[in-house]
Amino acid sequence: MKLQRLVLVAIVMSFMFVNLVFCGPATPPQTKKKALFVWGGWDGHEPKECVDIFAPWLEAQGFEVEVSDSLDTYLDIEKLKSLDVIVQSVTQGKITGEQARALLEAVRSGVGLAGWHGGLADSFHSNMEYQFMVGGQWVAHPGGVIDYEVNITDHEDPITAGLTDFKVHSEQYYLHIDPLNEVLATTTFSAEYAPWIEDVVMPVVWKKMYGKGRVFYSSLGHVAEDFKVHEARKIMERGILWAAGVKISK
Ligand SMILES: [Zn+2]
Repeated sequence: MKLQRLVLVAIVMSFMFVNLVFCGPATPPQTKKKALFVWGGWDGHEPKECVDIFAPWLEAQGFEVEVSDSLDTYLDIEKLKSLDVIVQSVTQGKITGEQARALLEAVRSGVGLAGWHGGLADSFHSNMEYQFMVGGQWVAHPGGVIDYEVNITDHEDPITAGLTDFKVHSEQYYLHIDPLNEVLATTTFSAEYAPWIEDVVMPVVWKKMYGKGRVFYSSLGHVAEDFKVHEARKIMERGILWAAGVKISK
């Protein structure tokens, strides 16, 4: 009996040893990445309809997703800092000093920020530090909704890899741009609506850092319909993932 018990103990111990050496200590269950979508501002940009495209999609990628239509969501700084990415679609609008401070601090600390069109680059005109974070400010869309081409300029970056130049029927955004931006796609203006900007090459898609936070922007997405263009949607999806710190498969 004693021998049998000794053998049993030896077997159990050797199993535990092998388990520890080859498998390491038990890993805690993986926590889901967290995203916050904030929408509001000018209705003409269909902020809710656009968020309704990307929020369920991101949830399907395994994210825990919260959607808010109030900038007061930014006031809970501890919650903001626990997020992986904030996706904002708030055209124009007003942000209070307290809301802006929390948003800026969260992104500086490493939370990603992503957005499109006016929801990120035509927001909170009076807040300069916000614009410093985004890396661009919309100033015009000559001709309104027109036909134009988007040119992929970086074919190596995972956000634009595998995509080719494409046409859209939408607003062609003219922006004041931060030279820090890593530009992934551009568009070239014609002389048709503003002769003095002929041949100006304007960034459409960029990524940049703000402190430790990854900031991603695409000027495409005037209305929800614009995301029916495969490339426009793909770029936005990949940009959100990049901002959240996810390795993107090309
Ligand atoms: Zn627009």
